[in-house]
Amino acid sequence: MSSNNWFDVVVVGGGSAGAVLAARLSEDLSRTVLLLEAGPAYGLGEYPDVLIDAERVGGDEEHDWGFVAHLGQLGALDREIPAPRAKVLGGSSAINMGVALRARPSDFAAWIARGVSGWSWGDVLETFRGLENTDSGEDRFHGRSGPFPIRQRTYEELTPSVRAFIDAAEQQGYRRGDDPNGHRCDGVSPVTLNVVAGVRQHTALAYLTEQVRRRPNLMVLGRTEADRVLFSGQTATGVRTVDGTVYEAGQIILSAGSYGSAAILLRSGIGPARDLAGLAVDVVADLPVGQRLQEQPIYTSVYTLRPEACAMSPRAGAVLSAASSQAHGGELDLMVAAAHPPTLNPVGAAIALAASLVRPESRGTLRLRSADPNDRPVIENNLLATARDRDRLLEGVKLSREIGRAKAFASVTGGEVVPGDQFRDDAELLRLIDEQVGSFQHATSTAPMGGDSDEWAVVDGAGAVLGVANLRVIDASIIPEVPSVPTNLTTIMVAEHIYRNTLAR
Ligand SMILES: Cc1cc2nc3c(=O)[nH]c(=O)nc-3n(C[C@H](O)[C@H](O)[C@H](O)COP(=O)(O)OP(=O)(O)OC[C@H]3O[C@@H](n4cnc5c(N)ncnc54)[C@H](O)[C@@H]3O)c2cc1C
Repeated sequence: MSSNNWFDVVVVGGGSAGAVLAARLSEDLSRTVLLLEAGPAYGLGEYPDVLIDAERVGGDEEHDWGFVAHLGQLGALDREIPAPRAKVLGGSSAINMGVALRARPSDFAAWIARGVSGWSWGDVLETFRGLENTDSGEDRFHGRSGPFPIRQRTYEELTPSVRAFIDAAEQQGYRRGDDPNGHRCDGVSPVTLNVVAGVRQHTALAYLTEQVRRRPNLMVLGRTEADRVLFSGQTATGVRTVDGTVYEAGQIILSAGSYGSAAILLRSGIGPARDLAGLAVDVVADLPVGQRLQEQPIYTSVYTLRPEACAMSPRAGAVLSAASSQAHGGELDLMVAAAHPPTLNPVGAAIALAASLVRPESRGTLRLRSADPNDRPVIENNLLATARDRDRLLEGVKLSREIGRAKAFASVTGGEVVPGDQFRDDAELLRLIDEQVGSFQHATSTAPMGGDSDEWAVVDGAGAVLGVANLRVIDASIIPEVPSVPTNLTTIMVAEHIYRNTLAR
């Protein structure tokens, strides 16, 4: 290990992407790697239950950044809601629901359309196969020996009401499948999870194993928050932490997540020149950091359960993927997820059908209040900013309620308590959506990849920040277009793919 705070690579943030990169980069024992994580770097046996138990979702205050997001500036929508992001080794993969769905061929077509190469479905399938170990599905789509455990839940393992949701969706004419990461991803299926025996397999467990942590060339520093990247001219030379320590490096990789990486870039002088001037930060590169934030809007209907079908565990259940009447190019822009709320909820035994517009066209922003790393960034989700997005989410909500009324589902529920049967016409439903819409917590694209002619590009197709040397961003922030699924597995794939194609020696 280097003795004078110099490393071949410093990775900032040990979350879904950063833990993968630290593990992969340190496979080559001649490369020194430092992983800086703002939250605690627990040993494998030290993780508290809230970060391990897959039934407990969303973490707790002790392991969260405490961010809030404005939903939008459209009157009824302009509310502030929590924007949870984990602060712990393992990152948001340690607090999430554990749903493990791959981005689809149509999602990657949208990435390619932004001018990046090497990201077609044909390019990434092998990386998806290589990272997973799963015991089901067809070999041509699935890997058996990768580091990341993925398990396909079966119909029999689900609660009676989730099974009824699947039956009802089928009654409504949707294809019933058993592998949404396989040949066909449309229709309804039991959910796929990175959960084994009730344990959420976050990246600090799956990638930063005892063996990896013992490598002499890898140093993992917890409770160490990066402030900014330091430059000599246009060349990144190191990272300064909030307590003023400087770590010098041949290469710096920001993996601090969609909010964290963008904030570090802005504090480092990489962002819109006008905004940086307002923060009194010297401009290193004038790039549109934080201008293309993407987040999936969600509206949740809730149904009480009849006593004979009141089981609520396991919580995660089934997903339906469908195309709205305005979907582009084969995309599945609507998702309805059937899951149980936490048991301590006001309506008692219940099931929630969460309808989400997973390919929104509305764009949000992330800005800084000041260059002080202790100031939280200003996050504007700007959900449902276009008429097309509002119409499509309305369609998704109507679709989920139709399933809610279908015979198989209605036979196990005591009725719809949210929004409630009295709300019928589109205008009323739109008003409710405006008032109650939430975010699916899948923020991406604050530092998007893009080709030469993409005016929104912040990094190239290998995560290298444009206009500077020795600095990459590799995490959910570089996803150019939010995929039509939850984002964890795709973020892990992005880290693996850039490692494989660019960083592996
Ligand atoms: C409540 C919730 C539920 C979700 N459910 C699902 C789901 O079921 N399935 C799914 O696919 N996706 C889900 N997601 C989304 C998914 O977890 C994220 O897309 C994914 O984890 C993002 O990975 P990342 O590497 O970009 O960021 P993160 O995993 O958030 O990692 C960023 C890391 O960087 C650290 N960091 C940040 N700033 C600094 C700094 N200045 N210095 C040092 N370290 C820093 C953070 O502490 C964190 O450890 C969910 C998210 C949330 C919040």
